[in-house]
Amino acid sequence: MVTSAKHGEGNSAQDFEFPFFSFEDIVAATYNFSEACKIGQGGFGNVYKAMIGDQEVAIKRLSKDSRQGIEEFRNEVVLIAKLQHRNLVQLLGCSVEGDEKILIYEYLANGSLDATLFDNSRKMFLDWPTRFHIIKGVARGLLYLHHDSRSTIIHRDLKAANVLLDVEMRPKIADFGMARIFNDCQKKANTHRVMGTYGYMAPEYAMEGTFSIKSDVYSFGILLLEIITNIRRSSINNIMGFPNLIVYVWNMWKEGKTKDLAEPSIADPCLLDEFLLCNHIALLCIQENPDDRPVMLSVVFTLENRSNTLPAPNEPAYFGQRTNEMMHLRVNIENSTNTITTTALEGR
Ligand code: ATP
Repeated sequence: MVTSAKHGEGNSAQDFEFPFFSFEDIVAATYNFSEACKIGQGGFGNVYKAMIGDQEVAIKRLSKDSRQGIEEFRNEVVLIAKLQHRNLVQLLGCSVEGDEKILIYEYLANGSLDATLFDNSRKMFLDWPTRFHIIKGVARGLLYLHHDSRSTIIHRDLKAANVLLDVEMRPKIADFGMARIFNDCQKKANTHRVMGTYGYMAPEYAMEGTFSIKSDVYSFGILLLEIITNIRRSSINNIMGFPNLIVYVWNMWKEGKTKDLAEPSIADPCLLDEFLLCNHIALLCIQENPDDRPVMLSVVFTLENRSNTLPAPNEPAYFGQRTNEMMHLRVNIENSTNTITTTALEGR
């Protein structure tokens, strides 16, 4: 049975109509959460494919010991239920009974971007035009979160695993469990619970807990580098003798060899220009100083208009001294269960 309920009555931020499903119906739709229906597993629980009515859906059952407590759950429900954009995954409903917490999303047939991007047998589905289309879609989704929805929303965990692809490879940003809303005049916030994924985190966020639209822009820049090079940010193998993706791409830029990063299939000069533009934007997004990074409005404008009157990027974060500090921080994270309680490390 589906009931449309007012969730969180009395609190205007949470006062909205939203479909609640009974746990019984979810059990029936997933054949009691059978392995056959299971399509994925994340840090917060399992994901199942099911039919509800005549619609294909993805059902996320949060594990009872999941780090996503009731707070994050409510956060995700309240946030996404009110967001409507073609590049954001749509939340169709939820179910809360006892300690069961379940989210029901639109089903996206091609799963997560990282599962295609970094899989040798699947990455051929991502030719350059498709990648460029994905980049523009993610940029538009993030622009909506930062500037075009009613409030400013900071995602805080943008990464290839949190971009889902529909049947036509159109991208949708997913996973809002860590997102935060800013009021109109708020520009940044601080937390001592740094949450997110190492490697995609802006340095000021990882090290000082400061997050803002510019920390999301940093994560977008890393995602962009991964999409154009097909190399994981968290790759622990040397990349052509360089210790990581950022150092590699920055060195190629400095030596005027960025073209060599492009796959041979991007031979057409028009496509190569798009590739170079994306590389340039990525380097601007991952600059050390948040104020130097562009806002998503100008990123989208630049991508749409292919304008290339961009400033030269400064040396990226994590390149010099910061790299050493980050390594130190990682050691602290690994040895600590108190200060940075839920930070995910490399390899997620
Ligand atoms: P984490 O929760 O730790 O950030 P994650 O983002 O990979 O990791 P989930 O969001 O739980 O975890 O998703 C796990 C997997 O389930 C995804 O990688 C994807 O393959 C699949 N999945 C999730 N949502 C959907 C959806 N709406 N449609 C299709 N597949 C989905």
